[in-house]
Amino acid sequence: MERSSILSYTKEELSKKIEPAFRVKQIYNWIYCQYANSYDEMKNLPKIIRTDLENNYVLNPLKLLKKESSSDGSIKYLFILNDGYTIETVLLPMKKELIKNGEIIRHTRYTVCISSQVGCKIGCSFCLTAKEGFKRNLTTGEIIAQVLEIKKDNSIAKNRRVNIVFMGMGEPLDNLESVVKAVKIFSDPDGLGISTRRQTISTSGLSKQIEKLGKMELGVLLAISLHAVDDELREKLMPINKAYNIKSIINAVKAFPIDARKRVMFEYLVMKNINDDIKNAKKLVKLLHGIKVKVNLIYFNPYNGSKFKRPSCDSVIAFQKYLLDHGVLCTIRESKGLDISAACGQLKEKTKKELENDNS
Ligand code: SAH
Ligand code: SF4
Repeated sequence: MERSSILSYTKEELSKKIEPAFRVKQIYNWIYCQYANSYDEMKNLPKIIRTDLENNYVLNPLKLLKKESSSDGSIKYLFILNDGYTIETVLLPMKKELIKNGEIIRHTRYTVCISSQVGCKIGCSFCLTAKEGFKRNLTTGEIIAQVLEIKKDNSIAKNRRVNIVFMGMGEPLDNLESVVKAVKIFSDPDGLGISTRRQTISTSGLSKQIEKLGKMELGVLLAISLHAVDDELREKLMPINKAYNIKSIINAVKAFPIDARKRVMFEYLVMKNINDDIKNAKKLVKLLHGIKVKVNLIYFNPYNGSKFKRPSCDSVIAFQKYLLDHGVLCTIRESKGLDISAACGQLKEKTKKELENDNS
């Protein structure tokens, strides 16, 4: 039988398999705080438990295949899974380090952008991940391992603040069970200790699943990939809109429990001559009326063969100004990692081409 990853299990689940129960806390500490790379390193566990773990659970379900660093500090990782599929994860540093008297006095905060599926079923016309179709859901362990491996690789200490965004490859709400379990394991104070309030789930708008997630009251943040303000255009860009239209998404968002100090994020991918003029900004303001939101404008990042184009800076700034002038909080996503094929699916596509060239 194939061994599952130990990272897929909550403490409660492991306690049912490993006795006495206090050993589970020690195992969590070795894995998530001391970044152990083998069960043998877990010296305070009796040999019999270490052997049992070795026989039953894979410690790390990912292998690093490729890594690209950008001049702005972001690092894109390509991991290979046990069955040969590959996924991308990106590390984004949040704050620049301050240097005083030649010494670094402030550290960077990190955001890790993780994948939830191999490929994606949703089929958005602008998205490179969609082009490869859907292969499979990631297991909870494969989701957890992305953050763990990146923390290890960058020697990010256990108590350093890390935010998580489910904005890599795949639609997280289409893999709800594994994603929710990962959210809970991420937030375990004996493990990575990443509060659910520092975890954001981004969705193309599966209204029913948004409602389901909301009822779980996990405290996670929600991001909606809206990208269009009327159903006609949104259906063309995102076929999922035929099943869940804009109104259903807005209703689901209104019912979603949000911490009083937080907001729902609406992502708006700006594409030249598609959705970048002020008429769209006007409609967006109307649509979001009465909801505590923050809009994040994202420059479309073109790739080889994409039919959409990057918008002009002027149009994006004018769009933002309109929203701000009408009381809607709005940021523009920095084009982090533009030189390292930043948008999801792009490193993977590039590596595939390089491998093809190597083999030819
Ligand atoms: N499936 C989820 C989460 C992953 S996609 C969702 O759609 O929300 C994460 C974000 O990357 C989405 O907002 C998506 O619109 C954006 N994205 C996809 N292709 C892009 C591209 N070429 N340039 C910039 N952003 C892109
Ligand atoms: Fe899937 Fe998100 Fe890409 Fe749409 S944008 S195809 S939902 S990953």
